[in-house]
Amino acid sequence: MSGDKGYIRRIDLTRDYEAHAAEYRAAIEQVCKETAFSGGKYADRFDEEFAAYVGSRYACGVNNGTSALHLAMLALGVGPGDEVIVPANTYIATAWGVSYTGATPVFADCTGDTWEIDPAAIEAKITPRTKGIIGVHLYGQPFDFAGVREIADRHGLFVVEDCAQAHGAKFEGKNVGTLGELGCFSFYPGKNLYAFGEGGSVTCGKEAYYKHMTRLKNQGCDVRYYHDEIGYNYRLEGMQGAVLSVSLKYLPQWTARRQEIGRRYLQEIRNPLITMQAHPENTEPVFHLFVITVPDHEDFVQYMANADVECNMHYPVPCHLQKAYAHLGYREGDCPHAEYLAAHCVTLPLFPEMREEEIARVIDLCNAYAP
Ligand SMILES: *Cc1c(COP(=O)(O)O)cnc(C)c1O
Repeated sequence: MSGDKGYIRRIDLTRDYEAHAAEYRAAIEQVCKETAFSGGKYADRFDEEFAAYVGSRYACGVNNGTSALHLAMLALGVGPGDEVIVPANTYIATAWGVSYTGATPVFADCTGDTWEIDPAAIEAKITPRTKGIIGVHLYGQPFDFAGVREIADRHGLFVVEDCAQAHGAKFEGKNVGTLGELGCFSFYPGKNLYAFGEGGSVTCGKEAYYKHMTRLKNQGCDVRYYHDEIGYNYRLEGMQGAVLSVSLKYLPQWTARRQEIGRRYLQEIRNPLITMQAHPENTEPVFHLFVITVPDHEDFVQYMANADVECNMHYPVPCHLQKAYAHLGYREGDCPHAEYLAAHCVTLPLFPEMREEEIARVIDLCNAYAP
């Protein structure tokens, strides 16, 4: 279907590659010539550039966003017996990092309008075992960091930001990834900034965290063949670093275009059956995913598919009701807003290379929808 001119995909990465193929290929060629494949010069160079972009002192490149979350938990000393509060409405990997350490993720509901973690829902989940909170800037919309920080400070907890969907987003004028103790990013293909494969990064301001994560991702050693603790192979590949350095130059213009399309949807989609995410005044979202809710989401996705428009759902099952976490004993009704969203969400096409007529067609179809 992708070759079909009239078909609108939810996201189409081929357009970016076609536009910048020569530049990407030259960057990859250079890595090959120097055989700088694992970590090395091009991974290190990207770390510096990404830290500068985010405005954090350090960026620790890793092999994917899930590893970034795992290293963040390890750097903060999370381990067996500990609890970390995470939103029920997120991609499941937010919770994996907690589970990998032997600690337990505790799921908190989102708000009914921003669909981001609800500070009011966090308070009730705090126990003597709680070590911290992972907030997720989901769909590119910053969560209420001030609200979460206030609760965290009152209880002596850390705040980690899952920025996997929010490169370049701002909360009260500050970049995500500089707000909490650590910021975790993913460069999975389709994220606002993406590698040609897998990649991730942890941003932080504290040298001790950076050094510890650098050791952990590198088999637990500071000096080659001397292993000071049990480590991991979580290094960023040189080729991904080189590709990311090319993409990073385009990220500001991609973000501006995402914001332009997002604002058009917000202003021009007018259908009482469609509900859109709230974007508080003190935030600058980057529209990673444009999620709406409708009474019957299967019907809506089919309606769009019949008109050659691909939509999907983020996410059809909230984390607390995933089979993987059945042993934690959650039930339907525990996180009502997250459950409502899972049962009604639809993600509309949105990516920087969308053409004007495609944007207009999505808007017209939304406005014409009647079940
Ligand atoms: C993509 C994503 C991750 C995981 O990143 P990977 O690079 O795929 O491992 C974690 N959290 C959120 C919110 C994500 O969207």
